Amino acid sequence: MFTGAVHQGPPQTDASFSDLGLSPPIVESLDEIDFEHPTPIQEKVIPRGLEGADVVGLAQTGSGKTAAFVLPILQKLLDGKGTRALILCPTREIALQTRSFVDTIGKALGIRSACLIGGVKMGPQISDLRRNPDVVVATPGRLWDHYERKNVRLDRIEKLVMDEADHMLDLGFLPQIQRILSVLPDERQTFMFSATMPTTIENLARRFMREPGLVDLRPRTMTASGIEHRLYLVAPGETKACLLALVREETGSMLIFLRRKVDADWACRQLEIEGHSVQRIHSGRTQQQRVAALKGLREGKHRILLATNVAARGIDIPIIEHIVNFGMPDAVEDYVHRAGRTARGAMEGTVSTIATWQDKETIKMVEKAIGQKLPRCTLEGVEQWVERKQTIRGRQRLRRRF
Ligand code: AMP
Repeated sequence: MFTGAVHQGPPQTDASFSDLGLSPPIVESLDEIDFEHPTPIQEKVIPRGLEGADVVGLAQTGSGKTAAFVLPILQKLLDGKGTRALILCPTREIALQTRSFVDTIGKALGIRSACLIGGVKMGPQISDLRRNPDVVVATPGRLWDHYERKNVRLDRIEKLVMDEADHMLDLGFLPQIQRILSVLPDERQTFMFSATMPTTIENLARRFMREPGLVDLRPRTMTASGIEHRLYLVAPGETKACLLALVREETGSMLIFLRRKVDADWACRQLEIEGHSVQRIHSGRTQQQRVAALKGLREGKHRILLATNVAARGIDIPIIEHIVNFGMPDAVEDYVHRAGRTARGAMEGTVSTIATWQDKETIKMVEKAIGQKLPRCTLEGVEQWVERKQTIRGRQRLRRRF
């Protein structure tokens, strides 16, 4: 178990950023933020990116993929005018984090950016667009709103990034993405990043990219290494008691995923009553509240962050010791994706899942995907749901009853 506020970051290679072909001002900016060596995905993607090739990168959040596409793009944007790079992100949080990295490196190069995300006023974004940004970072829905209102021009885009493409599709952004792709110049370089490679993603790559090179850095088991998985199987009426017992038992930082906003509200109230420092993010919270909640967890102001599925997608939280799924996620990919929020780099972390017999099928699928049986665990005072192998007699009795 790791503690403390030091962010170790993802594992790095022995290479240097200048070996990869990055220019001195960029290497200096990287030095200032303590990026000494590239991560594996950066080592593979940056040289291809600088050559102008299309790249499909399969990697989790936490692998350093943001720098993998931002750095070659910024280096190649040095001459020219107008909005020439477009980075599409699934959530506001990812868009804000990406924009902040673009600005950190772009400052020394005189590169301007705009961030177009939903849930906040359009006015300030329109003002940013009038300043003619070189790079636009956007969620697809808000970008399309601006495009239809003629606030943004996309006819000079030379570089396109579709970040966390699988999540953009999960969130229902495919129609907007297709519309956006249909108005972009054909002559462009495209990067696509995704944690998984379902057929929809393959089809997007086939239709909209030019012979992309594939950089596949998915871990062998599909999840980050160094993760301890725990499964708490309880009766449906015991899930809440189990969550409270788990929070009491553990001491480190914790990100708890819940399906419903009402559960997040309940847990927040209850944990506060029990004296825990806790915050929550869900669709009912404003952008400022979400940003403050994330910042607070990072700075150790609160130990626990409650997040509903959609609000939490892809948020970059450097150190999370413990992920808790309150309810088995509906999709195996979600389990794997969430597991990617812990055990980053060389560190270790825990993923605990509180589930009931109704989750039996998903549990089996998760176990298949990660290549191991989820260890069954118990907590004091919480009654465990005992799985029984069904006998033929039991099956007949069940059939008679229904
Ligand atoms: P990402 O996968 O892009 O969200 O990056 C995950 C985290 O790793 C972020 O907090 C980055 O700031 C950090 N990071 C990315 N690349 C490097 C690097 N080469 N050296 C140190 N930290 C890095």
